[in-house]
Amino acid sequence: MRIAIDGPGGSGKSTISKILAKKLGLIYIDTGAMYRACAYISLKFHVHGDALEELVRNTEIDFLQNDDTQRVILLLKKSEYDVTEAVRTPEVSAKVSEVAADKKIREILTKKQKKLASRKNVIMDGRDIGTEVIPDAEVKIFLNASVDERSRRRYAELKEKYPEISFDEVKDDLVKRDETDTKRQTAPLLKAEDAVEVDTTGLTVDEVVQEIMKIVNK
Ligand code: C5P
Repeated sequence: MRIAIDGPGGSGKSTISKILAKKLGLIYIDTGAMYRACAYISLKFHVHGDALEELVRNTEIDFLQNDDTQRVILLLKKSEYDVTEAVRTPEVSAKVSEVAADKKIREILTKKQKKLASRKNVIMDGRDIGTEVIPDAEVKIFLNASVDERSRRRYAELKEKYPEISFDEVKDDLVKRDETDTKRQTAPLLKAEDAVEVDTTGLTVDEVVQEIMKIVNK
């Protein structure tokens, strides 16, 4: 079975996808981490445009399953980089939507993602999974929540690592990313016509999982 989960930042995609992956024996693929890895490469090597595209084309992005955590590993320039934590920094978050709006970067990553999805037992989350990456997925979900609820969730995640970060900064970043992701020319954040929308505002993680299990078992 292939499950496509799309939605804006903080809607609960990765938390829910990890639980469903375990429950249903699927491989979880976090496509946001792949775009974040490209933003990380841009910042680390100070490359943009064609030079960034060239570097991304020559980079292998791997997910390493490690008990309950999934490590994000880059193989580039004959070196291996574990970027699991580095792709979650506020700097990468502020950069990622600009990089993700690049048509060629999207082409490269979409190709990699389609290859990963060809394993047929995946749950993949992102912004264009149901529309572009696995348009023929057996189950398509569009997760959403109010911007305040999404910001609260992101803030709770980030404040432990970055005690200096404020709620307003987190909310600003989410709002800006939503806008860039929704307005970009190529594969904008969009609910696939045949996706089921689940509003997670006010719901617990368990309640969202139950809701989606009902859709999976239909
Ligand atoms: O899911 P996450 O918030 O980590 O995604 C980070 C960013 O990566 C998004 O804001 C978006 O710009 C980009 N992205 C995308 N397409 C995907 C997944 C993520 O454009 N399939």
